Amino acid sequence: MTIYNFSAGPAVLPQEVLLQAQAELPNWRDCGMSVMEMSHRGPEFGQILAEAEADLRELMGIPSNYKVLFLQGGAAAHFALIPMNLLGGKTSADYVNTGSWSTMAIKEAQRYCTVVEVASSADKNFSYIPAREGWKLNQDAAYVHYVANETIGGVEFNWVPEVGDVPLVCDMSSNILSRPIDVSQFGLIYAGAQKNIGPAGITLIIVREDLLGKAMPTTPKVFDYQIQANNQSMINTPPTYGIYMAGLVFKWLLGRGGLAAMETTNIAKAKLVYDAIESSSGFYHSPVTADCRSRMNIPFTLKDAALDAVFLKTSQENGLLQLKGHKSVGGMRASIYNAMPIEGVQALATFMGDFARQNG
Ligand SMILES: *Cc1c(COP(=O)(O)O)cnc(C)c1O
Repeated sequence: MTIYNFSAGPAVLPQEVLLQAQAELPNWRDCGMSVMEMSHRGPEFGQILAEAEADLRELMGIPSNYKVLFLQGGAAAHFALIPMNLLGGKTSADYVNTGSWSTMAIKEAQRYCTVVEVASSADKNFSYIPAREGWKLNQDAAYVHYVANETIGGVEFNWVPEVGDVPLVCDMSSNILSRPIDVSQFGLIYAGAQKNIGPAGITLIIVREDLLGKAMPTTPKVFDYQIQANNQSMINTPPTYGIYMAGLVFKWLLGRGGLAAMETTNIAKAKLVYDAIESSSGFYHSPVTADCRSRMNIPFTLKDAALDAVFLKTSQENGLLQLKGHKSVGGMRASIYNAMPIEGVQALATFMGDFARQNG
């Protein structure tokens, strides 16, 4: 039986990447060392880092006036580090609140500045994206922050907000690399690696150069984006193995046609699950408004919550793992990142149909 892992993160990685890493584990390209054992200052790792950055730049079309940083701390550390690096003497920042991760980013930023919540979907349990027309942006804000895909609530922006001259900052932890984006619309993009990039341990930062050099004096040196940018993310030891793995994933994505090709597949994959929900005559329910349903994380409930345990047990017996929903939402959640093959999503949709017929 083929096993498919629907975990929200750390999440599935491409099988080809895992097998390549396995083959190269003890001895990378005949250099006699594992990537884990190399000096981060040696020529071998230098090549791994340079290739990873070049491949990411090609994949995302990152303009030359943007720096790429491979840092640590997870996206959650950068909830604090973003105001520390970007406030630049300003005292407030604008935040859009579309769910759990937005809320956490707001709470953390409040330790450093006045957070103005310029739009929120809390009134309807974070089931939609507030239309841009209703956002009350402030000209004196240091930046505007939003979360492109709410991993827990399953709400995703399918547009990039127009915010004028104030830099746009985006947490793309759970949908980066899932579709082409225009990086030049952003001041800063950040993403924890463990959903759609590679193993946990790296936080990717893509930042426009003119926003650097404004860190608060109390910012730890290893988290000063300007200092790290000036030192190829190597002011201290970077997460070397994670960067190597991310680099393999970038090559895998390039080999499959890049982000436009991923988007086509991701649309088809998400449709399979949403169709299974919609065609179940109310057996399954999506809590999210139709026009902002995530392609990456699909929460759904069963009409009878007493069946949840049976659904989880039976799905697991059928090789479909980690479908339990987040405790704050309940029900199920299927995370179908880039590395989830369409066959896995087909298996899930078929299982959902069978389960509804047998238990409806
Ligand atoms: C997972 C996640 C985070 C937190 O990532 P950590 O690496 O655990 O800090 C933040 N934002 C979003 C959108 C996420 O999905």
